[in-house]
Amino acid sequence: MRVIRIIFLCSIFIGIGCKSEKEKEEKITKGVVTEIKTVSFKYWTWITADPSKSKEEYEAEFKKYKENGIDAVLINTLADTEVLRKLTPLATKEGLEVHAWMFTMNRPGDEIALQHPEWYAVSKEGKSCYDTRPYVEYYQWLCPTRKESRDHILGLVENLAKVEGITSVHLDYIRYSDIFLPIGLLPKYNLIQDEELPEFDFCYCDVCLETFEKEHHKNPKEVKNTAIDMEWKQFRLNQIKRVVDEAYDIAHKYDKKLTAAVFPYPEMADHMVRQRWDKWNIDEVLPMIYHNFYNEEVDWIGFATKQGLKDLEGKQTKLHTGIYLPPMSAEDVSKAIQLAKDNGASGISFFDGNAITEEQFEAIKLSKE
Ligand SMILES: [Zn+2]
Repeated sequence: MRVIRIIFLCSIFIGIGCKSEKEKEEKITKGVVTEIKTVSFKYWTWITADPSKSKEEYEAEFKKYKENGIDAVLINTLADTEVLRKLTPLATKEGLEVHAWMFTMNRPGDEIALQHPEWYAVSKEGKSCYDTRPYVEYYQWLCPTRKESRDHILGLVENLAKVEGITSVHLDYIRYSDIFLPIGLLPKYNLIQDEELPEFDFCYCDVCLETFEKEHHKNPKEVKNTAIDMEWKQFRLNQIKRVVDEAYDIAHKYDKKLTAAVFPYPEMADHMVRQRWDKWNIDEVLPMIYHNFYNEEVDWIGFATKQGLKDLEGKQTKLHTGIYLPPMSAEDVSKAIQLAKDNGASGISFFDGNAITEEQFEAIKLSKE
């Protein structure tokens, strides 16, 4: 075991290419564990592909990330494999890992899905996301239970997994639409959510109701208070888990990993969006610990990181803390990085690459040394 660990450590040192053999040996004998922890803490950033950007602009952008300590980019190409094929070598050439970030259950403007209105999730009120969108226009959620909509999503996962050079397929919006919005966002929508509201409660389509009724002999629409119907809650957690587990097998078939952007910690994800990510087959999770969305302080990043890791105990899944940069000072960014490290995360991810200010880059770079 020790030998394996030393070999692994060597490869890291060779990878960063700045340590002599002698120094390397000294470090190995001095404190293997500390060194591994420091070197292997990964820095990620989410970015969305912009068709108007030139190859040279992308090369400069990727170079800048690398120079400032970023190790991995999660690129949203709207599941377009051609764009991903073009960008991947530009990023890997700069030494960055590439992760194919996709919208999973929420598929705004999906031209194939739009030809099948029945694939869309239906609210408790009986309205379909096909034409009635909860909260915002870009919320166009598909039903996770219906075979056709699931196959469509898994087909997209497979196409991305086939792209040479990527490290993982990265699932975002892998959940139901928010039954509760983050508290900090409620005033923006002029909403009060003290209880589960039927217009935000999904999915009550025929296939979901039939599948559930077959197993549990009751119709959720006739249950007096569905918010406390645990079978109905569990059913929906299981539908999302099934999509993830199937995506995991597909990604691995092509020697790729499966990663996902998830809600801050499992109980919270369960409560807000019917997402129980500690139960999934998945390689790495990037919980979006956006303290400002929840009116929390920076130290909450440490709490949520720790809670997520506690819930993952005994599993192989790694956790990388996700933070939302726009309102954060450089000092807060340094603090957040330290909190993620101190609480056992394997890395940190920044939303989003294009919003990183010079001061924040400086804080990121400094924390790397
Ligand atoms: Zn459904």
